[in-house]
Amino acid sequence: MQEKGTISIHTENIFPIIKKFLYSDNEIFLRELVANAVDATQKIKRLSSLGEFKGELGELKVSVSFDEKNKTITISDNGLGMTAEEIKKYINQIAFSGATEFVEKFKDAKDANEIIGKFGLGFYSAFMVADQVEIQSLSYQENAEPARWICDGSTEFEISAGNKTTRGTDIILHVNEDSKEFLDKSKLGQILDKYCKFLPIPVQFGTRTESQPDGEDQDGKPKYKSVEVDNIINNTSPIWTKSPSDLKDEDYLEFYRELYPFSEDPLFWIHLNVDYPFNLTGVLYFPKVKNEFEIQKNKIRLFSRQVFITDEVKDVVPEFLMLLHGVIDSPDIPLNVSRSFLQADSAVKKINSYITKKVADKLSSLFKTDRKAFEEKWNDIGLFVKYGMISEEKFYEKGKDFVLLNNTNNEYFTLEEYSEKVKAAQTDKNDTLVYLYATDAEKQDSFIQSANKKGYDVLLMNSPIDPHFISQLEQKLEKTALKRVDADVADKIISKDDQTLAVLNDEEKEKVKSIFEKAIVKPNMKVVVESLNPDELPVIVTMDEFMRRMKDMAKLGGGMGFYGTMPDNYNVAINGNHKLIGKILQTQDEAEQAQLAKQAFDLALLSQGMLTGSELTEFVNRSVSLI
Ligand code: ADP
Ligand code: MG
Repeated sequence: MQEKGTISIHTENIFPIIKKFLYSDNEIFLRELVANAVDATQKIKRLSSLGEFKGELGELKVSVSFDEKNKTITISDNGLGMTAEEIKKYINQIAFSGATEFVEKFKDAKDANEIIGKFGLGFYSAFMVADQVEIQSLSYQENAEPARWICDGSTEFEISAGNKTTRGTDIILHVNEDSKEFLDKSKLGQILDKYCKFLPIPVQFGTRTESQPDGEDQDGKPKYKSVEVDNIINNTSPIWTKSPSDLKDEDYLEFYRELYPFSEDPLFWIHLNVDYPFNLTGVLYFPKVKNEFEIQKNKIRLFSRQVFITDEVKDVVPEFLMLLHGVIDSPDIPLNVSRSFLQADSAVKKINSYITKKVADKLSSLFKTDRKAFEEKWNDIGLFVKYGMISEEKFYEKGKDFVLLNNTNNEYFTLEEYSEKVKAAQTDKNDTLVYLYATDAEKQDSFIQSANKKGYDVLLMNSPIDPHFISQLEQKLEKTALKRVDADVADKIISKDDQTLAVLNDEEKEKVKSIFEKAIVKPNMKVVVESLNPDELPVIVTMDEFMRRMKDMAKLGGGMGFYGTMPDNYNVAINGNHKLIGKILQTQDEAEQAQLAKQAFDLALLSQGMLTGSELTEFVNRSVSLI
């Protein structure tokens, strides 16, 4: 047996669902109603330009006002208006968008479509804050009668003759008990500033006093008077709607200051502008970030046809570009839908990879056209680039040609340049290229100098992203390893075949070892006697690269884990070829021997900033008595 049928929807049931779940935030009622009013004015403009409307357009404007006593908020426009028939058609039918119909009917190939609405749901958001909504409207059509519609949020409405005498529509909200907070100047002002700041038609909210010239006084000095003028809350042509060729640097900077009044000027920006395969405009700014991870996410604002939607751009902008500032405007980003929908949306995915590509192209061209400026900005850009290369394979492919490594002499190299530079000196006996790096040029200075003396170069890797970037490089670069400069003594950090000849014999080495072990009573210090270059320091304290990285990772991860709970273990390398070690060995008096050993060890700690507190005091006292 087979039976077919259609599922029926009872509007009585769907209505409360729409009110409750479609919009998470009830303040967006104002966004929706102002957007409708803007649409109405855009439509009359279009009809006029097509010759469908022959009357006076007048000064097109949307006004928002409120009346605390009567508990109403009114949104008025002088757009195309609606007849009673149209109200029945467009307002009474939920999920039937008059906007879509209008666009179909009056589409104009030359002109980009400017109509915001498309779902036919926005109007009903009014019932989130009002227990009664009233429409007073007069259509632009000749001999149109004013119409009035009133509804209390149930599925019943009343339609009758209206009282409007000029073209356009008033939407009057009778604000409900729970939403009285909206009957407040600063509250409404804030919401308008958030959602409507860049709408294309002037939006008026209240008035402000302006001083205007008013002739001259008896002495011939200019006079001024205070006049009440409309307070327009929006900038109707924000820069992202303009063509990049019409804009100067100063325009971009000015807009940045408008968006983020208290920020430092940005480093540079990217003007986004595509219309195929999706429509998107916007300006992304690279802020100054410095080295600390002062992550300021949610600084990009998402718009749809100049209406603010959200500053949670997580799904639209790749994670690593969340540090950017600016605006993105795309009518293809669905307006009134939930976040999970946004994630799955295919337009959103395309936008995401487009932005990644644009940013990579911009950086690449900056690098190619002005390398010096690029190097100067590297401190700030580097973070984005490295983060991007770590988190997105596609970005790694582009970034590998312009990511810079900088060394302790403040020189910058691309990956390719650097491998060329150090290949000859820093390839070890297993044919692995070893890059040395310092995380703190001050603290690791003695190691850096020793490495430089051996003809090795030392990179500076002092940004919080660098531990991750180092692992990324090791994975990506062939036969290349990175080692922190203090991971071993300079003679051994890159293992070569040429061993320095030992001055001490094995028996002497054993003796030196025991002298030092006695002098340094520390369980986490392991003494080894090495045959190093006589110019190296007599004692050098190092920490194994692997061990240190594991500990760093544990620290970064916040949790402790196995490696996090291990004590810091150090190797104490005694340079058997150093004159001082020979001298210690020859010293007959055991106390003196121990004192010299301790002194040499403390000097090693001192050179690495590891000597502090009572140990430092003791060292100073001992040094004084030795002198
Ligand atoms: P959408 O804007 O997505 O079409 P709405 O529910 O916001 O859906 O509005 C439904 C329809 O009601 C609009 O498409 C439009 O035809 C009509 N409308 C709403 N507000 C106005 C207004 N202020 N002036 C003229 N028409 C309006
Ligand atoms: Mg709408």
